Formats: sequence, C-alpha cells, structure tokens
Amino acid sequence: MATAVMPKVFKNYINGEWVEARSGKAIENRNPADSNELVGMFPASSAEDANAAIDAAANAFEKWRLTPAPKRGEILYRAAEILTERKEDFAQDMTREMGKVLAETRGDVQEAIDMTYLMAGEGRRQFGQTTPSELPNKFAMSVRTPVGVNGFITPWNFPMAIPSWKIMPALICGNTVVIKPAEDTPLSTYNLIHVLAEAGLPPGVLNIVSGKGTVVGKAILESKGTQLISFTGSTEVGRIISEACAPTFKKCHLEMGGKNIIIVMDDANLDLAVDGAIWGGFGTSGQRCTAASRVAVQKKVYGEFVTKFAERAKALRVGNGLNAATDMGPCINEQQLKTVMSYVEIGKNEGAKLAAGGHRLQDGDMARGWFHEPTIFSDCDAKMRICQEEIFGPVVSVIPFDTLDDALAIANGVQYGLSAAIYTRNVNNAFRAQRDLQTGIVYVNAPTIGAETHLPFGGIKNTGNGHRESGEAALDFYSEWKTIYIDYSDRLQRAQIDNAD
Ligand code: NAD
Repeated sequence: MATAVMPKVFKNYINGEWVEARSGKAIENRNPADSNELVGMFPASSAEDANAAIDAAANAFEKWRLTPAPKRGEILYRAAEILTERKEDFAQDMTREMGKVLAETRGDVQEAIDMTYLMAGEGRRQFGQTTPSELPNKFAMSVRTPVGVNGFITPWNFPMAIPSWKIMPALICGNTVVIKPAEDTPLSTYNLIHVLAEAGLPPGVLNIVSGKGTVVGKAILESKGTQLISFTGSTEVGRIISEACAPTFKKCHLEMGGKNIIIVMDDANLDLAVDGAIWGGFGTSGQRCTAASRVAVQKKVYGEFVTKFAERAKALRVGNGLNAATDMGPCINEQQLKTVMSYVEIGKNEGAKLAAGGHRLQDGDMARGWFHEPTIFSDCDAKMRICQEEIFGPVVSVIPFDTLDDALAIANGVQYGLSAAIYTRNVNNAFRAQRDLQTGIVYVNAPTIGAETHLPFGGIKNTGNGHRESGEAALDFYSEWKTIYIDYSDRLQRAQIDNAD
C-alpha cells in the first residue's frame, strides 16, 4: 500500500507496491521557473516495468469487475475527500513542477476533485435501457460492462486533471489501469495515484509507470494485455498512437492539438472581450489545448481592441507562479521556449505586426527559468503559419475581418477543431456561430477555456477521433454496451418473423 511520506526519489506503483524501475535509471523533474530546483527523481522505466504493471492490472481485473459499482464509487468518494484536504499542497507541487500560477494549479486539482465526485456518483447510476420487446413474454435491456486493462498516456499541461478524466470513469466502469504520466510533470499524477491507493483501491487496480513515451508508452501500446488506450497530447504523437492501436483493434481515444479562436463582433462588450482574450491567450502561458491563440476582430472595433489588448498584455506580471503577484508563469521547458521564440521569428518574417512582447525574459532570477513575454501579433492573415500551427506558448495572433461569414471561414480554416468563442450582443450572431463553428466546444461571451467536468469535452477534425472525455460521454468510452434479451415464453420466438403478421 501507499507510504504516508513521499520520498524525493519516486518509484513506480505496481500491484499495490512502490517499486524501483528495473533499469535503475531516473528522469529529473525540474522547476521550469528555476532550473536549479530539483523537484524529484522519477523512474526511467523500461518495457519490462510496463509489462509487469499490465500483468498486475490483468490479474486484478476479474475481482474488480465483479466489485459492485457503488462500492467502487465509495473508494472514489474517499479519494475526492482526501484530494480536497490536500488541495493546497498538491497545487504547490504542481506549480513547482510545471510553472503555472497557483490560482490555476488549484483549479487543476479542483478539476480532479470534481471529476472524482462526479464518477463516484456514477457508481449508483451507469444507467442502461429497459425497453419493451417486440415479442410477447420477452424482456430486453442493455447494461454497461468494463473493457479490461486500460493504458493511459498523458501530457504535462494538466498533470492531475487530465489523468483524473481518464482514471475515474475507467475505474467506476470496472476497468483496471496502467498510466504513464508526462516526463515533465510526473509528480502531480503521482499525488493522484497516492490518494487513490490511500482511499483503498485493491492492489493491481491502478498502476503508474513513469518514463519515456517511446519506451513505456510504446510498451503499453504494443502489449497484448491492454484492451483500451486513452491518449492526450499532440496530434503528431496521436497519429502514432492510432496506428499502434489499429492492428489489434484496441479501443482508442485521442485528445490532441488545437488552434482555437475568439471572434469579436463589433456589437460585443469590448472590455469583456479583452478580458477573455487575455485569460484565453495567456492563461497557463498559452500552454492549453484550448488556448485562444487566434483572435478575429470585426474591422469597426479592430483598432480599439488591439490597443486595449496590447496594453493589458504588456501589464501582465510574468514570474514564478508561487508568487501571488504573478499573472503568468514560464514555458514548460527549454525546448518549448525555443519553439515559442522560433514562432516569433516566423511571425515577423511573415509580415505580422508585433503589437506586444516578442522576447525571452531573462533578467535576474528569470535567467534560471524559461520565461517569455506575453506576445501579440496584429494585422495577421489567417493563412500565416502563426495562425495555422499550434504554438503552445504565450503568442496570440489577431486577424481583422469584415462579416460574420468571413469570421466563420477564418475560424474553420484550420486543421484543428477543439474550442471556439464568440463575443457578441446579437442573438442571431450567437446562434449562427454556435451552429456553424467546426469545434467540439463553443463559448458565447466567454473565452475558449473553462470546461466543466459534467459535460462532454473533446474536439473534431485533427483534434479528436470521435470520443469525448468527461460527463456521461466518458462512460461510453470506458464501457461496452451489452444487450440482453430474456425470453420467458417457453417457445421459440423469432424476431422480425414471428411478429410480422
Ligand atoms: P506529446 O504528444 O509530446 O506527449 C504526450 C504524451 O505522449 C507524453 O506522455 C509522452 O511521453 C507520450 N509520447 C510521446 N511520444 C510517444 C510515442 N512515440 N509513443 C507513445 N507515447 C508517446 O504532448 P505534450 O507536449 O505532453 O502536450 C502538449 C500537447 O497536448 C499539445 O498539442 C496540446 O494541444 C495537447 N493537449 C490536448 C488536450 C485535449 O484535450 N485535446 C489537452 C491537453 C493537451
């Protein structure tokens, strides 16, 4: 079972035991706001470690699937209570390992709490259908059944919330789990696993194996022991995951990249739209799949919007997220900072106008972190690379437009389809936009971020593959429908034949 005090050197959790990786190697987890700070050492596990975890999950499955769902729910309920008690500590840990400001890491933990309570309640729901049969003395119903061993591969930007979106519905449906957290942010996922172990999950039901995607992730994908894969991350890696699942027809759920947009109509409350663009564009330093990395503004209010938006961006205080005065933290790592800096050069070369920011911040203590100014490009053309590609950093492109039709064409003219928003006080504009935007999520008079756990979450086009996280929709992925017909007529009754006359 879980130990009460977590060491700085972390182990894998396999079959109810904290065990060292067979490789004996470790991955450093460093604070992106201060690379001198070593947050912890996490196992650089091998394929054998992953396979041991999959075996443990397979052995635990039979008993867990037969555990009444309300009992499974009680364990989740206890976990939600523990998460609530430790929310502040977990938020601090998360800010140290990934940089986003405390208000946001508290939100990340809260999302895990919300999801855990929600799915605890599903222990007493998971409703199926009962329906009349077309034949006499026959009963028809459908029930949810678990899928088996689930393998999860998760990203670093929501290191507790996203694992909870997968783990909680999986467990309540009766599946067992092996999760590989992101290399940059394993601690928050470990904190979640610790809590679930402490809440009383039986050994083997939930296992964590940290390490590289190309080693541990690959082993989870290739194992004959996993029947379901859920992945959140980049579209590029998602394609690899999809191909790896295809030969054995593993059930596969992909949540991938985004290039989300806020549309600002000339009848909008402009200050509210600026508030939304600041929060949507620079929250989590723009490192959200739902970040508003494009803002399209109707020409009549374009100049005023850009001026106000740039002023507000320049006033944002960038720094260590543990400091209550900080508005925006660092990029996750050096590589991501370099990507952001390269896109700033791309934007300049494409002829976009730099309206705010554009530089790395490295004065004083900031030199030890991966900080970048909140950056706005104005006068962008929707076809520019900075308006098409996911940058995943604090860079927003502003595009002028004439009509709502133009704005919708700009919005839909990207490969992704996760989230979109429109600011307008005209009900006709709002209804047309919610109908015609090609995204899984639409906001009216709110930014592109702010999903709630009891509604479906996910995207279309190159963002998703047709499944959804959260809410009841998640149950559809983590369970299989079984349809049951009970004939108590004591004679052969042939559907579609004996009831035809
Ligand atoms: P990433 O694709 O680089 O990595 C995601 C996970 O996949 C990590 O755990 C990584 O170790 C693993 N991985 C990498 N290569 C692998 C391979 N060959 N085989 C198996 N596993 C492999 O993504 P990231 O940088 O961690 O996260 C940022 C991306 O995630 C962005 O594109 C963002 O839009 C996306 N994201 C999407 C959502 C969503 O819900 N749509 C939510 C958050 C993040």
